[in-house]
Amino acid sequence: MDSHPRAAVTDLRVRIAPSPTGTVHLGLCRTALFNWAYARGRGGAFILRVEDTDRTRSTAESEAAILEGLRWLGIDWDEGPGIGGPHEPYRQSERSEGHERVAAQVLESGHGYRCFCTPERLDELRAAQEARKETPRYDQSCRSLSREESDRRAAAGEPHVLRFRVPEGETVVRDLVRGDVRFDHGEVDDWIMVRRTGAATYNFVVVCDDIDMRISHVFRGEEHLVNTPKQVLLYGALGEEAPAFGHLPLMLGTDRKKLSKRTGDTALGDYIAKGYPREAIVNFLCLQGWALDGETEVFDTATFVKHFDITDVQKAGAVFDPKKFLWLSGDTIRRMPIGELVGEVTPFLEAAGYATAAEIEGRREWFEQLVAGEQERIELFSELPARVRPFFEADADVTYEEAAEKNARKHEDRAEHLAQFSGWLEERSAAGDFSTEALSAGMKAWVKERELKFPALFQPLRCALTGMAGGRDLGDCITLLGLERTRARIEAAIQRLG
Ligand code: GLU
Repeated sequence: MDSHPRAAVTDLRVRIAPSPTGTVHLGLCRTALFNWAYARGRGGAFILRVEDTDRTRSTAESEAAILEGLRWLGIDWDEGPGIGGPHEPYRQSERSEGHERVAAQVLESGHGYRCFCTPERLDELRAAQEARKETPRYDQSCRSLSREESDRRAAAGEPHVLRFRVPEGETVVRDLVRGDVRFDHGEVDDWIMVRRTGAATYNFVVVCDDIDMRISHVFRGEEHLVNTPKQVLLYGALGEEAPAFGHLPLMLGTDRKKLSKRTGDTALGDYIAKGYPREAIVNFLCLQGWALDGETEVFDTATFVKHFDITDVQKAGAVFDPKKFLWLSGDTIRRMPIGELVGEVTPFLEAAGYATAAEIEGRREWFEQLVAGEQERIELFSELPARVRPFFEADADVTYEEAAEKNARKHEDRAEHLAQFSGWLEERSAAGDFSTEALSAGMKAWVKERELKFPALFQPLRCALTGMAGGRDLGDCITLLGLERTRARIEAAIQRLG
């Protein structure tokens, strides 16, 4: 198959199997990233399969959001919904025929049996077990039904589920992250493969589909470790070799509990909306359970792909540190070429109503200067609009922040100084000497010549130009505003500050 060369040249096949039941959780993004990097670093294939078997909770919007989110992160797949591949379809709900065939096979071989216990009986059983402080489990009462009786009752339309007949003994899961993990079968319930409604369960279909799609390695969240013995048993019952497993440590919140809304945002979309750069998000996700060399925290995706190995993933839970995330974000922003940064902040400036993308494109140099002045100061793209607000306000009513106005009013001769300085600016401009550097140096000389202290001019001037108590270089503010707007603002300040 020409469109899937990777699949053709290798047996290494990994996958991500998201359930489209909500927002794009960061845990899913990390699982996708680790699987993808493993495949990409080894010439394997990365498959995307949508596990939409839960028909009531799965939505097309969620599926679309997951695909879009993964693409946004720079993750591409060799086979999956939309692009197809040799093992179509890639949506679990469209694969039920195959699942039914396997269910019949499991029943036929005796590895599975029909259970006719009513939900009421099972409820009573559970209640009694709980009252005795026992772990609730099925008492296997339908295990001993003869095949004849089972067929007869099923043919008569009696509702039933299909259970797996868990044999005595133990299953050892050889986990590439956690080592050997033993499960005594005394703790593995005769689990349900197909419900009364005919709907197959996750543990059942995941094995059917992973077999069909020739998946060689399954890397997923640790919460699935408990499911693994059930799945390994099913592989055995079907005479198939199980894939290699690697369970990624849980992502923990700062409260050391499973990452949830309680301690911060969990959805990729929340971080995109806040203006975390893509590189920072990917970099941060890479660090959730993996480290490059124990020292280097900042690295790009190519480095991750080159060095990632599942056996280097840590067992202990990965604590999600929002401060580190923010730092990484700011660090990424500081290293960005200015042209790229302007592109990234454009949607935020648009959302603030300051400029359209076309206007930004039309005044590219000006916007680059505007953004460059804040590049060292912001940690998120979303912080930019508030910092550049004054440059989009009318000259007559720049918002004066309280501290800025207070600073300005400390200087008795402010009006006089501002007026003189405005005249000086006009001369500088007429002399063609209006660069940021020349202005910054000239301003200092202006203050010294008059034997003043810097704040005597700079505080009223800053209030006049930006209404803020601090911020970017004043020469920079003047060149951004231009002579006319600068003088208009000074004029307004003389009126407003008296
Ligand atoms: N649909 C499951 C999930 O989203 C997939 C688990 C697996 O990878 O086997 O958690």
